[in-house]
Amino acid sequence: MGAPVSGGRSGTGHHLAPDINALPYVDRRFLAHDPYPAEDGRTEANMVGARGCPYDCSFCGAAVSANPDITIRVRKPDNILGEMHELRDCHGVTAFRFVDDLFLGARRVIETMMKAFTVEKVSDWAVWDATGRINVLHRANDATLDRLADNGLREVALGIESGNPRVLRYIDKRITPAMIRTVIRRLSERGIGVKGYFILGFPSESADELDDTVSLVRELWHLTDRLPGRFRASVFEFRPYPGTPEWSRLVATGRYTAEQLLAYGAVDLTGDGLDDAMRGRDEFNFSVGIQFGGVPVDDVRRHLVELSREQHDRRVVA
Ligand code: SF4
Repeated sequence: MGAPVSGGRSGTGHHLAPDINALPYVDRRFLAHDPYPAEDGRTEANMVGARGCPYDCSFCGAAVSANPDITIRVRKPDNILGEMHELRDCHGVTAFRFVDDLFLGARRVIETMMKAFTVEKVSDWAVWDATGRINVLHRANDATLDRLADNGLREVALGIESGNPRVLRYIDKRITPAMIRTVIRRLSERGIGVKGYFILGFPSESADELDDTVSLVRELWHLTDRLPGRFRASVFEFRPYPGTPEWSRLVATGRYTAEQLLAYGAVDLTGDGLDDAMRGRDEFNFSVGIQFGGVPVDDVRRHLVELSREQHDRRVVA
């Protein structure tokens, strides 16, 4: 494998970490599908509000230790609002999806953004979705969560990953199942939806630990059934990414070569395209086909398909 790209040489850092507030707005003429018509009739656009993530979740390609050349940068509120206004005025956009690795990732960022969103009365004309973090939202007081809802926050995407405390510690997630339940209830009570990401088949994960994740997904569906904000689950099979802490741990065991860990192959979970529930996520269904924990790969995929079907059926019924 080649050496990672590096901006470490003096005088070259601007290539990888330019002033994020001096960059021009995204030229949407080059994006054929963005903005796009959303299911609810709004015109929607993707936005990036920040670059990089300070956390170090063991499996994640965006983990801070896997990206030594990335300088974490957050756009100023007036810069973000300027792009939102331009998208509204030029394209009629009234819904935004902040697709950053982690947008609502620090209390200071949340407070600064929400102050500006309130002044600009964003919720009078727009709704928005964002990535966030359970531990940060767990520390947020009721007034902060109220403010997020009042400013048009429609859905937060949260990495939950596992329902088992040991696995959460193993992957350095810095959250607990109790924190997960509390945050999702508090968001949902305020009408804010949650998209939770889960991973099955972590290295060292036992069958009982995997069952804890499956149970937690179902519990969170039931918890939010009676509340205004909906919870939906997006479930994936674990796969190793080069440069991540998990990759280093796996290589250090001596059981795997880099070639084995990189041998990604497509996995068809759609039943030859017949299963509607599994369509639309084909691009995420790739795997190296190795059993890393105590659960055979076929069992991991069976649970993944079951949860995805249940989620799909809930959406159809809702
Ligand atoms: S999973 Fe989320 S919080 Fe963790 S390192 Fe990746 S982007 Fe950051």
